[in-house]
Amino acid sequence: MWQATSAHPFDLTRFNDGQFLQAEQPGIDAAKLTKVLYPNDSHQAGKRLRLIQQYFQCACAVADILRRLLDEHQLSWDQAWHITSRLFAYTNHTLMPEALERWDEKLMRSLLPRHMLIIKEINQRLKKQVKQRWPDDKALWHKLAVVADGEGRMANLCVVSGFAVNGVAALHSSLVVTDLFPEYYQLWPQKFHNVTNGITPRRWLKQCNPALASLIDDTLKVEWVNNLDALKGLEAYVDDPAFCQRYRSIKQQNKARLTDYIARHTGIIANPDAMFDLQIKRLHEYKRQHLSLLHILHCYQTLLDTPDDARFIPRVFLFGAKAVPGYYLAKNIIYAINKVAEVVNNDPRVGDKLKVVFIPDYRITVAEMMIPAADLSEQISTAGYEASGTGNMKLALTIGTLDGANVEIAEQVGEENIFIFGHRVDEVKALKAAGYNPKKVRKQNKVLDALLKSLEKCKFSGGDKQAFDLMLASLTKNGDPWLVLADFQAYIEAQQRVEALWRDPLSWTRAAILNTARTGMFSSDRAIGDYQQLIWQAAR
Ligand SMILES: *Cc1c(COP(=O)(O)O)cnc(C)c1O
Repeated sequence: MWQATSAHPFDLTRFNDGQFLQAEQPGIDAAKLTKVLYPNDSHQAGKRLRLIQQYFQCACAVADILRRLLDEHQLSWDQAWHITSRLFAYTNHTLMPEALERWDEKLMRSLLPRHMLIIKEINQRLKKQVKQRWPDDKALWHKLAVVADGEGRMANLCVVSGFAVNGVAALHSSLVVTDLFPEYYQLWPQKFHNVTNGITPRRWLKQCNPALASLIDDTLKVEWVNNLDALKGLEAYVDDPAFCQRYRSIKQQNKARLTDYIARHTGIIANPDAMFDLQIKRLHEYKRQHLSLLHILHCYQTLLDTPDDARFIPRVFLFGAKAVPGYYLAKNIIYAINKVAEVVNNDPRVGDKLKVVFIPDYRITVAEMMIPAADLSEQISTAGYEASGTGNMKLALTIGTLDGANVEIAEQVGEENIFIFGHRVDEVKALKAAGYNPKKVRKQNKVLDALLKSLEKCKFSGGDKQAFDLMLASLTKNGDPWLVLADFQAYIEAQQRVEALWRDPLSWTRAAILNTARTGMFSSDRAIGDYQQLIWQAAR
């Protein structure tokens, strides 16, 4: 949105003195601010750069809109606060603690001294309010403070300073109230809202899947892309053989196009008649790409154990993902998927019954090609951790946990048209409270134990014993914080329900069509409408 440059990017005097690199330094110092979005922050220089970057982006935006408040316009505190606290609304996008930023107070004071004074004043005024409501509760004040333990807490600052707070799916918004900000909710219940995320059907249907868009045009004969609830009209055609045939053949064309892309970019020859099973999203433990990996190993082992079973459902497992630079465990999961892919894809006993494809350089343009070719959408985060998800709204026929917007997708499409499995939020909490032990789960599940052993015994890593250490340690001796093993059995059983439906192509297509017809509420137009109605209430 904004680019930083130096007013004097080049020092001619230094250059003429022979200091060629130093002559460029001012330009480099300014440009580094906006060169890389989300620079690695696992070291001090990275943290410093991020805080400067965030301040720079916010300051540019605010200055652009308002041309400055308190100091330059000589407003009193009360006047400035009156404006601020009616102007800012906070949307929380995740409950993950590492995303609820806490900046070192010293760093803030050195980079943003005036802001730190103002934040301290906000903190003092908040303290009065909290002490009035909960007179002798020191621990509670410590929890609610905007500055404490030598850190500035940005999420608290947002709740205190704004007029509205919202989460991005019904489940997430309720967790924002009950788990993240319960006392703030008691102070200001009227601030809290939900606005479920949406995606734009202009990009994610009309532009990226023109054949399906045409079929919808021909069938409904109404403008639907700016009124996505109109897709309900497709329900009338779920039992129309001609419509179903066209729907299926469009999916097949999209799969052929992706097969071609895969061949060109990876050399892997995928079978377009196999089930295309997609997990495309940032690489993160809570999204559990490694749970998918265990399922792939399970399919592979099943195929080796019963090579002649005609009931085996051929699949192409597709991954698209990047990990942030400092997240070594995520990188290790990418590595593990790629190493397993190498073995499975080159095993002559497997043939075209299984392929594992990790698409290189996953990005939005690649997503636009992959999504229309998906048969199955993997949305398998540990319940309680995916705030909303939006990938789940772009893809049809979901296997997933009751997490984020999956909950509302299930409500919309009906539970017979989605494959829900695994621990729910309250069950995740109960399991953790009871002292969850993944080693026990492993001991009691021989199949799971054998799959983990095959990873430990370097069957997939060409003799490298440490190849998957980070991932395997997380799953077992480090306590499996994302309950991968706890959900394994339920996941395998849900995948068996997927396969049962796949064996009946007409029923599969019917369920896929109903997913398209019933997910109109996940249009970004509805989401923006909700923001306007519930929060902005801007004059029209
Ligand atoms: C939609 C989208 C996402 C978000 O996907 P989730 O499954 O919700 O995490 C991430 N990356 C790209 C390129 C997308 O298009």
